[in-house]
Amino acid sequence: MIVAKSLAEFQAAYEALPNKSDIGFVPTMGALHEGHLSLIRRSVEENTSTIISIFVNPTQFNNPNDLATYPRTLEADCALVEPVGVDIVFAPQVHDIYPEPDQRIFNLGGLDRFGEGPRRPGHFNGVAQVVTRLFDLVRPSRSYFGEKDFQQLAILRFVTEDLQLPVEIIGCPIARAEDGLALSSRNTLLTPSQREAAPHIYRCICQARTWMHECTPAETIQRITDAIHTNPELETEYIEIFNARTLEPVENWDDAAEIQLGCAIFAHPVRLIDNIKLK
Ligand code: AMP
Repeated sequence: MIVAKSLAEFQAAYEALPNKSDIGFVPTMGALHEGHLSLIRRSVEENTSTIISIFVNPTQFNNPNDLATYPRTLEADCALVEPVGVDIVFAPQVHDIYPEPDQRIFNLGGLDRFGEGPRRPGHFNGVAQVVTRLFDLVRPSRSYFGEKDFQQLAILRFVTEDLQLPVEIIGCPIARAEDGLALSSRNTLLTPSQREAAPHIYRCICQARTWMHECTPAETIQRITDAIHTNPELETEYIEIFNARTLEPVENWDDAAEIQLGCAIFAHPVRLIDNIKLK
């Protein structure tokens, strides 16, 4: 496994790959956990070579404190992925990815109007910037993304199709801790008592699967919000019940064939997101 910490090192390692038309790619921001590993394992299974990137992309952070405190653990990350069979870890510097400021504004198909979009202005455009830049460098056949970031996955599918990029976007299920908490690099920032409180989020959102038979989506959201707030460590930023294709919030359970619930909950100052399929 080669760890390339600059563009030049990456390009040298890339040239040595045996079959450049069969590359799997897993972009990450590091502080790797079992969720990332599930994507990486799948890529190793399905491709001749696997490249992962570890890059905390400044253009997708709308909160400077979140960017400053984002966990960075490159050595431990490399030790974790080496036995899985990764060929190249690309851990570039900011100037490798953005030799000049990226001014590109992407067509996100309106999929950023809901959920995370209005709460994190510019976030998904920043994600599209970094992912398309990385695709240019890595030229993967397949790229793997987690359903943990459900809206990001939908937006990247759209952007890839819109720009007709020659890469297959593959969605992978959410990896959870035994207590149900969705694995996230930001979980390492939780205090012990916040970490104890956090699985309450998943327990509450799963209740929607019962409540949906007796309540409207709006009433279900209210019940979940009340249930989450029985734990004083947690504060709801939003809970949405939406059409899994268009991401548009639904008013009735028969408004869409596939319905998803997504939420962002603060264990201050850490922001946790999760989602589940309801229909
Ligand atoms: P990040 O490092 O947070 O940018 O995540 C890199 C990739 O790993 C993204 O495609 C995420 O959706 C995915 N990912 C993060 N956490 C999980 C998880 N718990 N289960 C599955 N995929 C995940």
